[in-house]
Parts: sequence; structure tokens; C-alpha cells
Amino acid sequence: MPEAPTAPPDTRPATEAAPAPALQPELGPTGRPLPDLPVPEPLQGHGPARVIAMCNQKGGVGKTTTTISLGAALAEYGRKVLLVDFDPQGSLSVGLGFNPNTLDGTIYNLLMERDARIDEVISKTNVDGMDLLPSNIDLSAAEVQLVTEVAREQSLSRVLRPALAEYDVILIDCQPSLGLLTINALTAADGVIVPLECEYFALRGVALLTETIDKVTERLNPRLRVDGLLGTMFDGRTLHGREVLKTLVDGWGDAVFHTVIRRTIKFSDSTVAGEPITSYAPGSAGAESYRQLAREVLVRCREG
Ligand code: ADP
Ligand code: MG
Repeated sequence: MPEAPTAPPDTRPATEAAPAPALQPELGPTGRPLPDLPVPEPLQGHGPARVIAMCNQKGGVGKTTTTISLGAALAEYGRKVLLVDFDPQGSLSVGLGFNPNTLDGTIYNLLMERDARIDEVISKTNVDGMDLLPSNIDLSAAEVQLVTEVAREQSLSRVLRPALAEYDVILIDCQPSLGLLTINALTAADGVIVPLECEYFALRGVALLTETIDKVTERLNPRLRVDGLLGTMFDGRTLHGREVLKTLVDGWGDAVFHTVIRRTIKFSDSTVAGEPITSYAPGSAGAESYRQLAREVLVRCREG
């Protein structure tokens, strides 16, 4: 067999070696070099689930959109996903094509009736591998009724327990408040994702939110951690959008996701269509951003 050719030995003195060309790392929208976000390995089995609460007491920042789109992207990567609608407005349920007024059972029944079974309330969505625990306006009564319950902050945690073994990720879409329902979500969660609209006033209220997260960690749920802050509705053409992202990274460092979601009308269109952007407009930049977020979340969970 002919011998494989070998490179001639490098006889140059070390000091004369040409300097390696400096590779310019690609900077992401947050101004930091983008990390490698590999496509996740397929899973051999499912569970136990990591529970993530989507939380910000401001409305209209992208909590529900992120819950649907991130969930659908994780499902595309073979993860078994349960979405929990924990907002009495029921936007998550509506966004997936459900009519909140004709639901047989909702999360309200699971919270208030001791013999209600979670598998009877969970519905399949049109996305393979993604299920929904729906809600409607009944849930607003639960917030009042729970006040007098024993272990009132642990109610959602108790409800979700039987489902943990079935799923890889459970995403809870919180209501825009820091009331008892949100405290329940944080008590049931392993991690919290905070979507923030890339606007000047976005950072107002984040201090109050982190104070609440800290209190829940201290008093109710020591395993809770912040998985990340997510910039949404970003407009890279305006200085102002870029400045908000910079302020976010200056204050929060690596807690800020490298992935940033740009502003596009496709999100409202997909809500009207009652499906996630990943299936409504699979090739769109918005769908691709949420796939990237899914990869980033999986990398962070693996490290955490
Ligand atoms: P929240 O659940 O925090 O109240 P939503 O996810 O319901 O916020 O989003 C509020 C509105 O903004 C919705 O009409 C949604 O379609 C729209 N929206 C969400 N994300 C984006 C985005 N990246 N670009 C443009 N519109 C968006
Ligand atoms: Mg919402």
C-alpha cells in the first residue's frame, strides 16, 4: 500500500511563524459573540419534565407568543411539550385554535376539584408532540378561592405532578400580574423566562419581578432559577431598539438570551390562524428565531 503523504516538517523557527489570522467572531444582536447552538440530540425516552414559567407582570410583551412558538419549536426537536394556559384571558388556548367557552374541563377544575384528573383535561394540539392544559375566565375565580386553601401557593405544583414523567418540557404562560396565580407558577417551576419588549420602558418593573422571584426562591421553591431574559419585538433598524438591548446586557449580562425576537406582523397573523408561527410560516425569520431560542434553552438546561 502506498504510504499516505505526510506534510514536510516545519523547519521555521517558532518566532518566525506567521501569526494566526484573528478570527472575527460573529456578533449577535445583543452585541456579544454568538455561541454554538447545536441541533439537539434525539431523545430515547421522555421525562422528567423541566417546568418553565413565562413571566412578566407587563401585558403585551410576548409571553403567550413565546410560550406557543418556543413550545412548537421544542416539539419539532422531538421534545414532548405541555403548554399550561395560566392566564384567565385564555389567549394561549385561543392562539392554538381552542374556543375557551366550549371547553369541557380547564385548569380551574384541576385546581379546585380534588378528584379531577389531569389526563382528562389535557388536549392535543395540531402540533405533533405538543399538548395543552387550557384555561378560560373561570381561572379568575380560582385566584380568589385559592386564598383560603391550605398550601395555596403549591396548588399548581400539585396539579402538574402527575404529568411530569410524561413530558420533557412544561411551559406555563402566566397572566400579567404578580398575584397568587403567578406565585403558583413560580412555585411549580424549575426556571423562569422573562420576555421583554425592546422598548424604552421595558426595564421598568423588572426589579420588582426579580424581587418576587427571589422571595419565591427563598420561601417556597429553592430550585427556581432565571433561565433567561428574552428581548422581543426588536427592531434592529432603530437606534433605540439596539440601546434597549445594550442596557439589558449591561445590567443582566449572560442572563440575557443571545436569541432576540424581531418585530414582525407574522406573529399576529399566526394568532388569528390559531397556530404557531413554526407551522403557519415555517420558513420565516420569526419561526427560525424561536427554533434558535429552543436550542439555546436546551443548552442552558443541560448546563444548569
Ligand atoms: P403577552 O402574553 O405578554 O400579553 P402576547 O404574546 O400576547 O403578549 O403579544 C402581544 C401582541 O403582540 C400580540 O398581538 C402578538 O401577536 C404580538 N406580538 C408578539 N410577539 C411579536 C413580535 N415579535 N413581533 C410583532 N408582534 C408580536
Ligand atoms: Mg398573554
